[in-house]
Amino acid sequence: MSFRFRFLGTGTSQGVPIIGKDYPAAFLANPRNHRLRASIYVETDGARFVVDTTPDFRTQMLREQLGFLDAVVITHAHADHIMGLDDCRRVCDLRGGPLPLHASRETLADLRRIFVYAFDGRPIPRGYFHPDPREVSGPFAIGDVTIRTFPLPHGNITTLGLVMEHCGRRRLAYFSDCKEVTDAALEAARGADVAVLDALRKEPHPTHMCLDEALTAARRIGAGRTYFTHMTHDYDHDADQAEMPDGVFLAHDGLRVETD
Ligand SMILES: [Zn+2]
Repeated sequence: MSFRFRFLGTGTSQGVPIIGKDYPAAFLANPRNHRLRASIYVETDGARFVVDTTPDFRTQMLREQLGFLDAVVITHAHADHIMGLDDCRRVCDLRGGPLPLHASRETLADLRRIFVYAFDGRPIPRGYFHPDPREVSGPFAIGDVTIRTFPLPHGNITTLGLVMEHCGRRRLAYFSDCKEVTDAALEAARGADVAVLDALRKEPHPTHMCLDEALTAARRIGAGRTYFTHMTHDYDHDADQAEMPDGVFLAHDGLRVETD
């Protein structure tokens, strides 16, 4: 039974390219250097969901020709991970009802404040965003995928690191937006088929893993394949990919990954 996912976006909070900056023509000519905000779509025979709803969510769903979702998982409430949430109104239409929204208590509190109209308890007419908030307090399931969560340090908040299991195997460790992968998360992710890691840029950053930190985490996790995401324009995809060790890849928007 296959477990597959695709990168809806692989860029840092501003996306790549950023507004108002000149880039070499050769950099812009490579579509793999164009990065929307970071998110993935996960699909099995029994589950379809996204991790995070970025400001580019609508564009990403249209590009990938996606519509129906069983659920949304939000890792943390930074703008680049949540600002497409209202566009799930169309998903609610297709479902004919509310959309399960899995997030930590801290993140749900922020979502209730930011999208107050959707959470204020008043009846929600058809055609509008209708969340079904599910506070994450341990492992949970979306269809046939079990998700274990690990709080990861991300500046003055924590983000949810996700380890997804399917048909008894550790399929995917998704650790975006973190300064480090904690020992507990590392242990849970060890030997997974695939790891996706925050590798913001080449220079160290106070709230994200840089390239060296991500390479170290990749080695310790030892996944079958490791993909880097949440990347700035520091990375020129093809040139930097050539420098990566075996089994480590720079992700790009639209990339599809399958485990069998
Ligand atoms: Zn963040």
